[in-house]
Amino acid sequence: MADNHTPEVRSYNMSRIRSKDTKPEIWLRKQLFKRGFRYRKNVKYIPGKPDLFLRKYNTAIFVNGCFWHRHAGCKYAYTPKSRTEYWNSKFIANVKRDKEIQNQLTGLGIKWLIIWECTINKMNRNEEYADATLKQMVDFLVSDSMNVEL
Ligand SMILES: [Zn+2]
Repeated sequence: MADNHTPEVRSYNMSRIRSKDTKPEIWLRKQLFKRGFRYRKNVKYIPGKPDLFLRKYNTAIFVNGCFWHRHAGCKYAYTPKSRTEYWNSKFIANVKRDKEIQNQLTGLGIKWLIIWECTINKMNRNEEYADATLKQMVDFLVSDSMNVEL
């Protein structure tokens, strides 16, 4: 994907690795709340400060931006055309940090769920897909699996 954003948009995008209350996050929260799930937001005492934490299910939920967190095979995980080396080292550090957080969570026996921003965008556009994905989330919460990426 071409990096055709304006410098303002780009620097905005790049300033928010894990920002609070992004549009996809708010949308997802509403969907979970509607279905009776209760959560805390941006829980600081849990590794990685997950966007949502469902205490009842001992599950941390991360809404991951595809660009920053390098969603494998996703068109939004493009590499800017200039300063490629700079970006690549940043991306490698981000991915490494995510991995470390995931290992810490697993070590603590906390389940974790990653939902990619592009998945939420697709859910937003396609009700059937949204229902199916939410069902997958719920199935995961009540299952013995320790992690899932959607
Ligand atoms: Zn993606």
